[in-house]
Amino acid sequence: MIIIKHIAGYKEYRASNIKGDITVGFTPTMGALHAGHISLVTRSKSENDISVASIFINPTQFNNPKDFEKYPVTIEKDIEMLEAAGCDILFLPYAEEIYPRGEKQKHYPLGYLENILEGEYRPGHFQGVCLVVDKLLRIINPTELYLGLKDNQQCMVIKKMISLTSHNVSLKLCETIREPDGLAMSSRNLRLNETERKRAPGVINALQKIKTSLTPGYTESLIQKAITFLQEQGFKVDYISIADAITLEPVSTWDGNKKITVLAAAWLNDIRLIDNLPLN
Ligand code: AMP
Repeated sequence: MIIIKHIAGYKEYRASNIKGDITVGFTPTMGALHAGHISLVTRSKSENDISVASIFINPTQFNNPKDFEKYPVTIEKDIEMLEAAGCDILFLPYAEEIYPRGEKQKHYPLGYLENILEGEYRPGHFQGVCLVVDKLLRIINPTELYLGLKDNQQCMVIKKMISLTSHNVSLKLCETIREPDGLAMSSRNLRLNETERKRAPGVINALQKIKTSLTPGYTESLIQKAITFLQEQGFKVDYISIADAITLEPVSTWDGNKKITVLAAAWLNDIRLIDNLPLN
């Protein structure tokens, strides 16, 4: 695996090595890699001539400075994992190159997606996500972009950003990889202490309960029961939403046919967990 730290270095590599109809699969990450990230890299590698991953803890997507400061960093292990997965290039840029001083920040008209669910609780988060993914796509210029459905709304937001820009890239959305007890793998799980780690699968258990009890009609009572279930286990719930699987708009009455999904965010002390589950 080649590690490239400068934008100019990547562009040089690209100009001499990536020509014609060579396909490039790209997996952007913030590091502290786990098997979820690696599943994206493995798929990218199997579907493309060249597989590129990036590690960049993007400051503009953190609405909470403490979350940014405490974001786990495990770079040596990350490099080993990427190498073992057959990743060809790791792009490891410096913040000063991604965000040159004095550069005017773009704004993406994301519409309602920006203000619901994660957008409501993390103001500015999705603008930061778009900013960095837009920049990374310009640099890497991949043919395929690999994203995890663990961050379902992020996938929708990036899809929207791509439709607003000129990127010619095809999106590959990948299933959520889970721990044996169901907890969705996440870099932030590294911050859970032993007691919190035991409780953390409560989120997916709450979503599973909704799936099991779902019948056509009003959805609100299912949501309220799931919120109570989580609160009883010590979670502070930001939201649980039963939503249209395509648009993520809330579905208060389910007709029994529409594709729906349930999304949740909840805190265990100062660690925020998110997850989602297709319901039908
Ligand atoms: P992050 O490093 O958290 O920004 O994640 C980088 C990419 O990995 C994003 O596309 C995530 O959605 C994806 N990802 C994170 N956790 C998982 C998981 N448990 N399963 C599958 N993909 C994941």
